[in-house]
Amino acid sequence: MDWGLEAQDRLNEIAGCSLTGPGVTRFPFTPEHAAARKIIEGWMTRAGLEIRLDAAGTLIGRTGPADAPAFLIGSHQDSVRGGGQYDGIMGVALACLAIEALNTRGTPLPCAIEVLAFADEEGVRFPTALLGPRALAGTVDPEVFTLEDRDGISLGTALDAFGGAQGDVVGLARDPGSVLGYLEIHIEQGPALEQADQPLGVVTGICGIERNAVRFAGQTGHAGTVPMEGRRDALVAAADFVTAIHDTARNWPGLRATIGSISVFPDVVNAIPSEARLTLEIRHEDDRRRADFHAEAREIGAAIAQARNTGFGIEQTYAQPAVPCDPALVAALEQAAPGAPRLPSGATHDASAMADLCPVVMLFVRCRGGISHRPEEFASADDMGAAVDAAARFLAALPNRD
Ligand SMILES: [Zn+2]
Repeated sequence: MDWGLEAQDRLNEIAGCSLTGPGVTRFPFTPEHAAARKIIEGWMTRAGLEIRLDAAGTLIGRTGPADAPAFLIGSHQDSVRGGGQYDGIMGVALACLAIEALNTRGTPLPCAIEVLAFADEEGVRFPTALLGPRALAGTVDPEVFTLEDRDGISLGTALDAFGGAQGDVVGLARDPGSVLGYLEIHIEQGPALEQADQPLGVVTGICGIERNAVRFAGQTGHAGTVPMEGRRDALVAAADFVTAIHDTARNWPGLRATIGSISVFPDVVNAIPSEARLTLEIRHEDDRRRADFHAEAREIGAAIAQARNTGFGIEQTYAQPAVPCDPALVAALEQAAPGAPRLPSGATHDASAMADLCPVVMLFVRCRGGISHRPEEFASADDMGAAVDAAARFLAALPNRD
């Protein structure tokens, strides 16, 4: 059996569970999700798993003694609008194939294993995400069930109609003693593995994220009558800030700094801008380095404000700490994927929420051009086959719990 080609076939098939239009559009608790669920149930059945849907809409396939602690392996079934056919669902497909491969070879599993197909990682339909892993970790805020999609359907209503039960979600929280760990296989969504000419990478941690509101305050005036000398132009200061942050961040290994939004007041063609508001997002695997860069950004902004004679402020509006992967699981995954380089994840994953419950690790699979969240997203059958082999070796080598 060529597990990579099998993965390609299965992903091609399930890509049809999508709204029409370019790429894959599969939101949680929709008819597309229901169609995908049927196909995933087929994969789980072929892997010899016992299937159930939990109250949060996570499809679970389990093998092993009913009350034994389980090792969990999973990812998400949903996509962004016009996304690709690998993000998320590939991790579910490869998890099933790894178990099927072990069964085919007659390799016994050392402990109970559960494959998890989470409903909603992307957070596109409802203004929330990660319901499935948060339910298992016991970190769901019950308020989320009142959040509505564009048609006014609440998350709770959609979940219940799908076969979940919003009232039972809080009860899904697992006893940490019953969970041995969590592995997620995912496309890299970046270019590092392609550049390193490696099919697989072992994730060392998921980057922390902070967002800041940045403001430069100057003085408006008539575009024609106020001379260039002495102007206090907030947008000019902001422009200096954008380039200075970008150029500084390039010298910080592993750091990502992005100014993705800017607005100007009064925002008219013939007035000097009196105010510029920017966002600054900073990501790093090490929270201390992220805090250091925040301090650096503050100094850069203050220096620019002084030079341009404007006011300056920076205020953190959101912070999500980094999630380190478990060192023992990282080492075990390296054993199972010899030669695979270590790398951080710049994006959030289901593993981010699972880390509140148990030790986590992720296996990244090379994707063409680092492209993701687009129809052109692509991972090769060879690379997926390598991931199935690595996952099978990893599972077979877990500590024996029988
Ligand atoms: Zn994903």
